[in-house]
Amino acid sequence: MSMERTLILLKPDAVQRGLSGKILARFEEKGLKIVGMKLMQMSQELAAQHYSAHKEKPFYKGLVSFMTSSPIVALALEGIGAIEICRKMMGATFGSKAEPGTIRGDFGVSNSFNLVHGSDSKEAADKELGLFFKPEELLEYNLAAFTWIYDPVEELGQQG
Ligand code: UDP
Ligand code: MG
Repeated sequence: MSMERTLILLKPDAVQRGLSGKILARFEEKGLKIVGMKLMQMSQELAAQHYSAHKEKPFYKGLVSFMTSSPIVALALEGIGAIEICRKMMGATFGSKAEPGTIRGDFGVSNSFNLVHGSDSKEAADKELGLFFKPEELLEYNLAAFTWIYDPVEELGQQG
């Protein structure tokens, strides 16, 4: 596992239902480092680029309409294995099927209004982070708790 960055979106339903803070807290509590964060309104163009892989799907039109209907919070999160860890924390796509303990499983029942997006691969993460953040909006800084979140010897490769 290597240090990765992933794009997480708190979707319009999360913001409108007042769940942004709770969902963000889950990622923070897990030990993921926030390296980018903004409240923004997605444009049609951005939604089309972000969901280009779904263009032919029957749910595409509704998805774009939903995602552009109200503000979202875009997050760039960093951690060892962050992409897969965040996907697991989100749970299955459909709120009706997502396991309790996951974000989608705990906070929603809808199959389309499912609160959160997370990049599903390194390639997707690189593309999506580039769509939502300018390079200078992604910060590099030391997290004070870092050496307590990870084992410095086993995971960070620092001796002493
Ligand atoms: N979606 C939907 N109906 C479906 C499948 C997906 O409305 O039958 C929406 C849902 O908001 C989902 C998004 O489209 O999060 C992207 O779908 P994907 O299969 O990539 O799921 P995800 O990666 O978000 O779990
Ligand atoms: Mg997806």
